[in-house]
Amino acid sequence: MSEAAIPQEEARWAFIFTLQQAGVREKAVLDALEATPRDRFVDGLFRARALEDIALPISCGQTISQPSVVGLMTQALEVTNRCKVLEIGAGSGYQAGVLSHLARRVYTIERHRPLARQARAALADLGASNVTVISGDGTAGLPEQAPFDRIIVTAAAEDVPAFLLDQLRDGGIMVIPVGQSDTVQQMIKVVKTPEGLEYTELGDVRFVPLLEGIAEDLPDG
Ligand code: SAH
Repeated sequence: MSEAAIPQEEARWAFIFTLQQAGVREKAVLDALEATPRDRFVDGLFRARALEDIALPISCGQTISQPSVVGLMTQALEVTNRCKVLEIGAGSGYQAGVLSHLARRVYTIERHRPLARQARAALADLGASNVTVISGDGTAGLPEQAPFDRIIVTAAAEDVPAFLLDQLRDGGIMVIPVGQSDTVQQMIKVVKTPEGLEYTELGDVRFVPLLEGIAEDLPDG
C-alpha cells in the first residue's frame, strides 16, 4: 500500500463512521454510499472536501446534499432491487448514483440543463446504467413512467404535491423535504397504504427550493 493511500483509507472509515453516527444503520445503504465516490460529483476545487459531511456548492448556484442526509433519506425510502424510483432534483447526480446500487431503475429530473448534462456524464463514467437523467421540470413528475415504487424529492416543496402522490404505486414510499421557508423544513416520509396516506416526520433539514419551470441557463452553464 502506498503512503498516500493511508489517509484516504482513514477518510473513508471516518466517512462511514459519521454516517453511522447520524443514524444510517442499514448495511445496504452504507454499502451504496461507500460504492458511490462523491468526489466525482463535485467540481475540482471541492473534491478534497468530498468526504466531509457537509453540503457543497455545484454549478448553477445549487448544492450537493450532505452525505448523512442522503443516507437518511435513502434509508427512509426502503429501496429494494425490484423498485422503480423517481427523483426530483438530480443536481450533481450523487443521490441518484447512491440509489443506482439499490434500485432496479432510477429516473431523475433536473431543471438546470447544465447540471443534468454533468450528472448524466458523471453517472455514465461510473457505469450507473440503470439511471436516466431527464432535463426538465419535475413539478409534473414523470407521468409516462408512472407509477413509481419510490419517489424522492431533493428540493423543498411548500407541501407534498398531490400529483406526485398520484404517481406513487399503492404501498409505495415518498420522502420529501417540506417547508414554507428556506430555513425551517421537515423531512417527511409518506407511505401510501390501502387505508390512506401515513406521514412520518424525520427531522429538520435545509434544501434549496423546488421551483417550477425549466431554468434559463447560459449555453455553457
Ligand atoms: N440530489 C442532488 C441535490 C439536489 S439540490 C444531489 O445529489 O446532488 C436540488 C436540485 O433540485 C437543484 O439542482 C435544483 O435545480 C433542482 N430542482 C429544483 N426544482 C426543480 C424542479 N421543479 N424540477 C427539477 N429539478 C428541480
